[in-house]
Amino acid sequence: MEITSAEFVVSNSRADMCPQTNLPEYAFIGRSNVGKSSLINMLTKQPKLAMTSATPGKTLLINHFLVNKEWYLVDLPGYGYAQRGKKMMDKIQKLIEYYVLEREQMTCLFVLVDSRLEPQKIDLEFMEWLGENGVPFAIIFTKSDKQSSGKTKFNVNRYMEVLKEQWEELPPYFISSSEKKTGRKEILDYIESINNS
Ligand code: GDP
Repeated sequence: MEITSAEFVVSNSRADMCPQTNLPEYAFIGRSNVGKSSLINMLTKQPKLAMTSATPGKTLLINHFLVNKEWYLVDLPGYGYAQRGKKMMDKIQKLIEYYVLEREQMTCLFVLVDSRLEPQKIDLEFMEWLGENGVPFAIIFTKSDKQSSGKTKFNVNRYMEVLKEQWEELPPYFISSSEKKTGRKEILDYIESINNS
């Protein structure tokens, strides 16, 4: 799929105030700093579309972007901000839960994990929760340019081995680098294949 248009539509702190349309939504989530904003900007080829973590406030909202006037790319708040305190964490968690579990238009959730790290408890628990609730998701291994491709492959295999211990069926996964524009075609083609199915 080629992206011909991508525009910011709205930011919400309440999931029930998200756009009222039937267009499919593809949402992106991950721990703070995993590279979510960079990935959204890379996918849409708009370097400033999603605000990076350096922008206070924005990352606590659900942001809707309309792509090709056909589907929404949804930027969800990052999870795992220990420094934000419990009250804020609870608020973010409720927002994520509501969106992920209640939003009928949510077609696939992309869970971003840093390709350099060993499987992190918080991500594994989050994926387990998605599985328990039957939420369709795929994994994106980010920042692959920060190491050799061999090391990335090693880390991804190790990750999938850990998931295999818990899951009968493994989720699809993609390897990305916003720096080198890796994974763009694969991720967009995957979205297109679901849109056309
Ligand atoms: P977010 O908090 O998940 O939205 O993360 P950001 O997109 O703001 O990225 C966090 C930091 O990682 C920033 O300094 C980015 O420049 C850097 N970063 C993000 N993606 C990549 C990548 O693919 N390669 C490299 N080398 N750095 C990246």
